[in-house]
Amino acid sequence: MAMIIRSLCVFCGSSFGTETVYGEKTREFGKYLAERKITLIYGGGAAGLMGVLAEAVLDNGGSVIGIIPEMIYKKVEHLPLTETIITEDMHSRKRMMYDKSDAFTALPGGIGTIEEISEIYTWQQLGYHRKAVSLYNINNFYYKFAEFLDSACDMGFIKEIHRNRLIIEQDAEKLIEKIENYSEETVDKWS
Ligand code: AMP
Repeated sequence: MAMIIRSLCVFCGSSFGTETVYGEKTREFGKYLAERKITLIYGGGAAGLMGVLAEAVLDNGGSVIGIIPEMIYKKVEHLPLTETIITEDMHSRKRMMYDKSDAFTALPGGIGTIEEISEIYTWQQLGYHRKAVSLYNINNFYYKFAEFLDSACDMGFIKEIHRNRLIIEQDAEKLIEKIENYSEETVDKWS
């Protein structure tokens, strides 16, 4: 049965990327989240695609919760979000982002984005949660990442069932639809 998503944790770049399409699609995605009344949970900054996304949600009447560690908060610019939560450190920030979200997605980004989505994907594999983990594949950005996962699968390092749980989608509406229809098979890492 489809689940209604009320909050989505989005990881994305603190940079804009070289192509304007990244910003354009990120803005459209923010508008779509606002229209669907899906609260955005994100890292709380104003830089790059993070700022574009948060602003787009707010501009379209949506809700944004930014969760940011004290050390980063002191160093970066801020947007007037619906709610800003300042945490003691990076680990409590992540824990709170994970607890508050119904599902997770990554837009294009760099090391931080890859680390964050990989961690939550690992937790899914280990059975710590049963929430959807996804990639919004703007401009086919995640093509090589998907290819890497496939080759790791072929080489016997990732089980096909875990590989197949990762939702990868180029269309925002289909992405949300797949997240809402996600349900996990019972096979876990240990079986
Ligand atoms: P990156 O993909 O390397 O640009 O890093 C983006 C991720 O790292 C985001 O999802 C945030 O969680 C975190 N991050 C990086 N820069 C900032 C910033 N200026 N403010 C808040 N979080 C940030």
